[in-house]
Amino acid sequence: MSQPNPRKVWNFTPALPLKIAPFWDWPMKPVQSIIHLLKSWKPLKERAVFLVVAIAIWLWATPEMERMATIYYSWILEIWVRNLIIISVTAGGLHLYLHTFSKQGDELRYDKRPLLKKAKVFTFGSQTKDNMFWSLTSGVTVWTAWETLMMWCFANGYLTMITFAESPIWFVCLMLLIPIWAGLHFFVQHRILHIGPLFRWFHSWHHKNQNTGPWSGLAMHPVEHIILFSDNLLYFLVACHPIHLYFNFMLHGMGAPTSHVGYHGVKLGEKNAFLLGDFYHQLHHRFFDCNYGDGDTPWDKWFGTFHDGTAESDERIRERRRQIWHGKA
Ligand SMILES: [Zn+2]
Ligand SMILES: [Zn+2]
Repeated sequence: MSQPNPRKVWNFTPALPLKIAPFWDWPMKPVQSIIHLLKSWKPLKERAVFLVVAIAIWLWATPEMERMATIYYSWILEIWVRNLIIISVTAGGLHLYLHTFSKQGDELRYDKRPLLKKAKVFTFGSQTKDNMFWSLTSGVTVWTAWETLMMWCFANGYLTMITFAESPIWFVCLMLLIPIWAGLHFFVQHRILHIGPLFRWFHSWHHKNQNTGPWSGLAMHPVEHIILFSDNLLYFLVACHPIHLYFNFMLHGMGAPTSHVGYHGVKLGEKNAFLLGDFYHQLHHRFFDCNYGDGDTPWDKWFGTFHDGTAESDERIRERRRQIWHGKA
């Protein structure tokens, strides 16, 4: 972790310049790649928690397969309530701790500007109320609809289920690959949603949040919710276990709130922190035409939209925008 930021734009940044994961470097860097992968699964990081939650859901909070073979409101409602609780605890807990009660002040906070209490652009004229409303209505419902479809397919044999006992190596490899797949899917759909009318109709709802809080993560147009969760369609092509599916859902259901939290982490004592925030994506909310994907995937670098957090990148992205506005790019 790093220093309070010398640049006035930010109150705090991680070490700059940001770096893309070494998986994509040429010549290949196998040792650095393995170290990076292991670091991304550290216990004091969100990814490991998402996996624990995914396993817990499968063991204790999923309706029996026999019930899910038939579409019926009772088990769908159970899933909807469970997902409502997951989003409420994740986003609500972080919002109360960091923003309402300001338990660590501005320590590790990216952007000191307060969340907007009065701004006409938001539903109900308030950033937090707007963000909560769209997360808890459309967000929970669309997530539940996707989960209902996928679990109904599992229960009826339309999806091929593997088990850890039968294929332990593939089970683990697929788990490691899911965040990279989700990163690719996120980049593609996000980049498309920035195109003219699609942006105006749908994605602009999410971009009302220039500075973000945990509730901003899933504050988006219902069409964008449908697209966001559609990465699970992969499992019609790739055999998996429901734990993989739940882990993939957690990358959005819990991951969207944690990545928009506005802080680099929750402090644990003087020196440690549970790492949460995503400065890579925070830069997207601030500078807009950059960082459409995430730091695990190379797409932004390859397409010239990577912002590494430095003043030089600010200028390069501004220049890129100027050229686009003047029709030169
Ligand atoms: Zn965007
Ligand atoms: Zn966002």
